[in-house]
Amino acid sequence: MNIIFLGAPGSGKGTQAAMLAKELVSPAISTGEVLRKEVERQSEIGKLAKSYMNSGQLVPDEVVVGIIKGRIAEPDCQKGFILDGFPRNMNQAIVLDEMLSSLNKKIEMVFNFEVGEEILIKRISGRFSCKGCGAVYNRYFKLPVKEGVCDNCGSDDFESRSDDNEATVKNRLKVYRESTFELIGYYEKKNLLLSVDAVKSAPLVFGELKEVASKFSQTN
Ligand code: AMP
Repeated sequence: MNIIFLGAPGSGKGTQAAMLAKELVSPAISTGEVLRKEVERQSEIGKLAKSYMNSGQLVPDEVVVGIIKGRIAEPDCQKGFILDGFPRNMNQAIVLDEMLSSLNKKIEMVFNFEVGEEILIKRISGRFSCKGCGAVYNRYFKLPVKEGVCDNCGSDDFESRSDDNEATVKNRLKVYRESTFELIGYYEKKNLLLSVDAVKSAPLVFGELKEVASKFSQTN
């Protein structure tokens, strides 16, 4: 099954994509994650992407399209994949359709994660994670049980994404409204869109995704 997770930053799509990928035994491909790794490695792509990412702008289409093109061709994607954070504008959506059609593939389902902006801002600007095990926390919604100590692995070393500050978040949401939001209509017209009330807790959202995906597998 080839799936897109659409939604604003902070809507929870990254967490859900990783969970559903495990369930479906298909990879979740996050362009943001790939780009962060490139920045960390200080590769050419990373050097180019860094300033866009730090200011909350979209990295140029040819860079992300190149990443997706290479990744989708890998063997683990042949039975399906989940795209998390791609496409992010109309041009990327059209190029993706062309790319898939040339491989005799298509997108079969698009989940749109719906959350109001006030919650999104708190979710993103409050987000931090354990450096040891990657467990994710939030200073507004989910602090570790013991202050400064990871519930999961006991580490006291935490980090935040450099683009998870309030100023960049506002810009990322603006970019979402201006460039990504119109993809909802694009996929709605293709009859692929399924809305998810992503204000609900992560386990509840996951339950819904799993049910829809399993019904789809049974009928296709
Ligand atoms: P994310 O982890 O999905 O929130 O992405 C973090 C940042 O990576 C974004 O703010 C963009 O700068 C960049 N990025 C991720 N995916 C894309 C994409 N499909 N197109 C352009 N830039 C992207």
